[in-house]
Amino acid sequence: MRIILIGPPGAGKGTQCQRLVDYLRVPHLSTGEMLRAAVRAGTAEGLAAAHFMAQGQLVPDPMILGLVTKRLEAADCRDGCLLDGFPRTLPQAAMLDDLLDCRAMSVDGVIELAVPRDELVHRMLARKREDDNPEIFAKRIASFEVQTAPLLDYYKRQGKLASIDGLGTADEIFNRVREALRRLKRDS
Ligand code: ADP
Repeated sequence: MRIILIGPPGAGKGTQCQRLVDYLRVPHLSTGEMLRAAVRAGTAEGLAAAHFMAQGQLVPDPMILGLVTKRLEAADCRDGCLLDGFPRTLPQAAMLDDLLDCRAMSVDGVIELAVPRDELVHRMLARKREDDNPEIFAKRIASFEVQTAPLLDYYKRQGKLASIDGLGTADEIFNRVREALRRLKRDS
């Protein structure tokens, strides 16, 4: 299955993605991870991306597209994958559809991890991670609301969206994720 997990920063996407890739036995494609690896490796791409990431802004589409296209073409992604952090904008979603179309593939389903904004801020303050500067965090949430949230409607209209409540323990949420997968499989 080719699944996309969408959720705002601090929604607990990382934990659920980890469980989901073990459950589905598919590769995990996280654009955030790919970008952080490029930054660590000090490549030209990494240097260019670091500037945007540090400001809580999205990295420009052409760079993201380059990373994702290469990865999606790898043999291990032929039968499915979990997309995490991509697509993040409507143009990225359209590009993903084109990319998959050309290869006779498609997105099977999209799972939204819904968490209210107040709870995201509360969690961020409680965990006090070094990269969670409140000002930058607020920018990442705003970027989610303005640029990424419209994707929910895009996939809803295609009948591919399953929204689940992101409040609760990791186990409770993963049960909802599995239930969403069953619904998506049934409807596809
Ligand atoms: P989070 O979901 O907590 O914002 P990610 O690890 O998914 O974190 O992404 C970290 C940063 O990497 C983002 O704030 C953004 O700058 C950049 N990034 C990741 N994926 C994309 C993407 N698809 N398009 C543009 N920028 C991205």
